[in-house]
Amino acid sequence: MQRQPLVIANWKMNGDRNLVTNMAKALRESAAEFAAVQVVVCPPAVLLGHWQEAAFYDQIYLGAQDVNEHSSGAHTGEHSCTLLAEAGASFVLLGHSERRQFYGDSEARIGAKVRQVVAQEGMTAVLCVGESAAQRQQQETFAVVSAQLAAALSELTECEQLVVAYEPIWAIGTGETASPEQAQEVHAFIRQWLTEKFGPAGSLVRILYGGSVKAENAEALFAQADIDGGLIGGASLEAEQFVSICTAA
Ligand code: PGA
Repeated sequence: MQRQPLVIANWKMNGDRNLVTNMAKALRESAAEFAAVQVVVCPPAVLLGHWQEAAFYDQIYLGAQDVNEHSSGAHTGEHSCTLLAEAGASFVLLGHSERRQFYGDSEARIGAKVRQVVAQEGMTAVLCVGESAAQRQQQETFAVVSAQLAAALSELTECEQLVVAYEPIWAIGTGETASPEQAQEVHAFIRQWLTEKFGPAGSLVRILYGGSVKAENAEALFAQADIDGGLIGGASLEAEQFVSICTAA
């Protein structure tokens, strides 16, 4: 079995109904160019409903940027997995470095969120991992990434609903991309970790690269053996750029 290429747009706290309409139109018009690629858009949760209306064909999947680890109850401002599924999401980003750094996503919380997502039928958890510039300088990349994987995935026994995104923090939103070789080295390490943990099924988990991916550098990154696609921030807000990246995958 092969790993289907996957490109995920992470709009973060950007975008509006106009962008939904324009992006859905651009993707629809170019769909034939990336027919083999699975494309997921994660807009802010309040725009999911609008996407559902705008993207009326089933080639584009929807995702959320985070989820609460509880299934319901008194959690003002939060969204459960069931609510996100009801709004059309079938992917959820988890443990993005911005959430780890600024919104209190501890390893324990991220692990609980992963379990919540995989317990929901039809939902896929996209676990983000990655080291800071200082950690890379001190040659701690593998130690940091394996600790993040272990903390988030230790209680999981199956990996069919899992995607991992390697996002070096120093490359996110900075314009500085990991070289294809730098990224491949970490992706191969993650692949080995997943195969040791989950057996042969682990080798089928898709591993995305994220961090300043653009139309210009996407092809070289995606050509690497263990890079199965990308998690795209800034460049996913421009229809032309994003379509080019989908096509490169
Ligand atoms: P970027 O963001 O593509 O703007 O670097 C990637 C991400 O944070 O997922």
